[in-house]
Amino acid sequence: MVSPETIAITAGRNDTGGSLAPAVWASSTFQMTSLDDGRRQAMRPRTTRFYGRHGNPSVRAFEDAVAALEGAEAAMAFASGMGAICAVVLGLCNKGAHIVAQQQCYGGTTQLLAGVCPRFGIEVTFVDAAQPGAFAAAVRPGETMLVLAETPANPRLDLVDLDELGALIGPIKVVDSTLATPLGQQPLAHGIDLVVHSATKAMAGHNDAVLGVVAGARELIEWLWGFAVLQGATASPYDATNALRGLRTLGVRFRQQSDTATALAHALEGRDGVLEVRHPSLASHPRADLARTQLRHPGGLLSFELAGGVEAGTAFMSAVQLCLPATSFGGPETLVTHPASTTHAGLGPEELAVSGIGPGTIRLSAGLEGTEDVLADVLAAVDAAQAGTTASPDPAEGALGR
Ligand SMILES: *Cc1c(COP(=O)(O)O)cnc(C)c1O
Repeated sequence: MVSPETIAITAGRNDTGGSLAPAVWASSTFQMTSLDDGRRQAMRPRTTRFYGRHGNPSVRAFEDAVAALEGAEAAMAFASGMGAICAVVLGLCNKGAHIVAQQQCYGGTTQLLAGVCPRFGIEVTFVDAAQPGAFAAAVRPGETMLVLAETPANPRLDLVDLDELGALIGPIKVVDSTLATPLGQQPLAHGIDLVVHSATKAMAGHNDAVLGVVAGARELIEWLWGFAVLQGATASPYDATNALRGLRTLGVRFRQQSDTATALAHALEGRDGVLEVRHPSLASHPRADLARTQLRHPGGLLSFELAGGVEAGTAFMSAVQLCLPATSFGGPETLVTHPASTTHAGLGPEELAVSGIGPGTIRLSAGLEGTEDVLADVLAAVDAAQAGTTASPDPAEGALGR
């Protein structure tokens, strides 16, 4: 079997006219050779030479590469990860449908399921992924249309047993595999029906594209296309080209980010001022068994809880020099966030706890800097937060990070 690292290099090369680099087809429309040809193009799903919202050759090259990486018959790109998730949920569920979804999910997904779905008469049951059998127990035979999981999950790196999920009979099983990337796991091989990615993250990998993608059986993808062409969350050919270029180097980038995150996780665990560290590489992970059997790489994202709550969290954020405060992950720069004072600032302690976020939680996305440099920066900032002070501002060093 060919390794995914090789597929990331060889896939998505149809229709390139010999160019090794992916080509941008910027055109929103295409000249018809005859009226008959126009009719054929208009009637065919996913055609790439009719009108931009129906399909585009640059976007198709990226879709083909993702389909090959996921072992899927087909893939379809969207204007964002949320565009993809929205199409899956609203494109597959009718009024009266029931969804079982993981409680620990990306914030946008949770808001869509909890806030938008009820308005369309779609009922959602949230389950705790940490409980084995939780999804199966919540499925209502003949009524549950969709089961939606995210693994590893944002921000606490919870893991869901893909074999257990894939064995469910009846509903369409969907996994958001963004954190793992197609190099980390292939959910379809475990019996999952649709795999979703925010390609904005490690796949594109350079913070220069907003893009989503769904892969699965051709029949399901064509059904989703029928909704997507009206939804209009159409992927940009520029973003798709950036993402296909990103896929070519994902192998080395993802390995490097995994290695740095692993080194950080081990250095932080048990250190003074650190209460808990979450990363699939740690033996202390509640599903370390799954991390070993299910993931080829532990990934570049980790989270840790600082003693000293919000105060320590904010002290850490102002003490880092090399790490940048920014949301998103999977890019070249190591990014840190303190959810309690930014993305989740509106939530009380109980709501934070349900989201798996503590007052001193830091989420870190390992970048591509030297591992030793990231390690030194993070450990110094942890020590500074622990000491209740921020590192003394050194103008020369400060210029490096900001
Ligand atoms: C970022 C993210 C999304 C949303 O993707 P966008 O490209 O920002 O729309 C969905 N799921 C996960 C796990 C994410 O990290």
